Amino acid sequence: MQQTILPPWRSVLAVVAHPDDESFALGALLAAFADAGAVVSVLCLTRGEASTLHGVTGDLLELRAAELATAADVLGLGEVELLTHPDGRLAEVELQLLASEVSAVARRVHADGIIGFDLNGVTGHADHAHATAAAVAAAETLGLPVLGWTVPDRVADQLRHEHGAPFDGYPDAEIDLVVTVERTLQRKAAKCHQSQAVPGSVMWRRLELLGEREHLRWLRRSDPS
Ligand SMILES: [Zn+2]
Repeated sequence: MQQTILPPWRSVLAVVAHPDDESFALGALLAAFADAGAVVSVLCLTRGEASTLHGVTGDLLELRAAELATAADVLGLGEVELLTHPDGRLAEVELQLLASEVSAVARRVHADGIIGFDLNGVTGHADHAHATAAAVAAAETLGLPVLGWTVPDRVADQLRHEHGAPFDGYPDAEIDLVVTVERTLQRKAAKCHQSQAVPGSVMWRRLELLGEREHLRWLRRSDPS
């Protein structure tokens, strides 16, 4: 039996690899948490400097940090912490170091739970998978629950077929939460990432295919109280 509502966390920490992940992937969910009154913080582990997309001219290091700040405002998020691990090579960074950085922020914001991409990285990017592995390792230490954002197999299959995008999904039976979302703020926040939200991006098609639903799996459940 799938859950249809988000957990009643008062402080939510989103752990992502790149500026734009918080909007392109988690945007509707983070906006929903914020709308429910939660304080939502973001820890972004790289500055996204290795992207091959340059929707606007300029230095991606500076552009993407500014885009993240603007998008976070649109989504109603609180603290945004941007670290400087190497984009595209996050998996080379020791997991325990990243986990200790996640733990430090989670403690500081008194997080009730952590949200990130699924452990498989969802879009075929190894940075996403490593960021989530670090979040789960931190959550083990802190005893926190972790939700992983995913897409159903039918959407992953369609995106692979149409765009050749290496999406990894799950069958319905392995998805724990299916939540109805409102995408207005997510679409607006995505457009703040001008260097990345280029026309024809697979992201727009994914939002279309997902419609009003987002899908999550428990990567770590709450400790029994
Ligand atoms: Zn990303």
